[in-house]
Amino acid sequence: MKKQASYRTIPVLHQREESLNIPATEGTRTPGMVRDGMGRPLRDLRISVTDRCNFRCSYCMPKEVFDKDYAYLPHSALLSFEEITRIARQFVGLGVQKIRLTGGEPLLRKNLEVLITQLAALRTPEGLPLDITLTTNGSLLARKAQALKAAGLQRVTVSLDGLDDAVFKKMNDVDFPVADVLKGIQAAQDAGLGPIKVNMVVKRGTNDHEILAMARHFRGTGVVLRFIEYMDVGATNGWRMDEVVPSADVIALLRSEMPLVALEACAPGETAQRWGYADAHGQYDPALGEVGVISSVTQAFCADCNRARLSTEGQLYLCLFASQGYDLRGLVRSEGTQPGGQDNDKALGEAISAIWQGRADRYSLLRAGLPPDAQGAGARRVEMSYIGG
Ligand code: SAM
Repeated sequence: MKKQASYRTIPVLHQREESLNIPATEGTRTPGMVRDGMGRPLRDLRISVTDRCNFRCSYCMPKEVFDKDYAYLPHSALLSFEEITRIARQFVGLGVQKIRLTGGEPLLRKNLEVLITQLAALRTPEGLPLDITLTTNGSLLARKAQALKAAGLQRVTVSLDGLDDAVFKKMNDVDFPVADVLKGIQAAQDAGLGPIKVNMVVKRGTNDHEILAMARHFRGTGVVLRFIEYMDVGATNGWRMDEVVPSADVIALLRSEMPLVALEACAPGETAQRWGYADAHGQYDPALGEVGVISSVTQAFCADCNRARLSTEGQLYLCLFASQGYDLRGLVRSEGTQPGGQDNDKALGEAISAIWQGRADRYSLLRAGLPPDAQGAGARRVEMSYIGG
């Protein structure tokens, strides 16, 4: 199946034009439970609903590459809400319990509430509703929080890389003020989209001096702040290992001012390591809340990664660092496919099951085994704004 001529300048996208590599599917589906080649279940589906963003964060969509001439996907290439829901239904039948909407900036996709309503109606094989969440830069959240909640969204994660306006504006590179993101977070809290998580990507020499200020600001507010190691995703951000601040350093810095105790993971395969703020007796104080660190560079968590990613145009990626996806849109749009048609939906489910069972991706683990000067080099990975964060 050939894709439409909508390619952009990133070399890896040309590889996707090559023939699709979907393994044989006959008889491979086990309803409700599928495991990959390393025994990892499929639990979490991240869906990118747009490859566009109104920010130009240097570590994600640098202005020099994502400029006015950049060829974003045409609307016809995007999965429709009905197509996304059909695909999601099959994932849920195979074990997915949580769906995260992302992008690009997901709140730029028109009528996103309609998609959320459709996804919220899905049920696991056990009859349970899904955990539906969304990652956003927060710029449109103040306007949209109530409608998102009413549509069935449960939680949001907001990205915010500092409290100092000059630092934040430099990082988002579109002069967007901190105050407006904070208003978005407040609106999300008021709408009941909690517990809210705030993601801060830490880049040495750029915003690492904001770590303590961020922790002080969010401690005791019910918002869970998470520090993310700057990752070598995509091929355009000029990643260098010496700009990564290891999570261990972040925790040591926090501990120099605020006592912390390690907390258990909430769920298997959770990306963040959790730390609780402690009281004067060294005990976790729920009123002060918690912080987290996401250490995909220094402490790979591939071993229990249960996440699949559906790109804006319906490519299934098995790893954030993958260079190639599997074309589910082609299957959904194949001739004779009727929305909800049982045969086609069954074939779609079988294809997803077979792809997952053939999965052996563990990029971060392999990266950790490389010498420092080889890490992040030479890769032709797909961009995070396309695959979804
Ligand atoms: N636009 C939305 C947002 O800003 O949250 C969703 C998409 S964004 C790609 C998802 C998350 O990925 C954000 O928290 C962002 O900070 C993070 N991210 C992007 N590039 C990254 C990188 N190179 N290293 C670590 N995190 C990154």
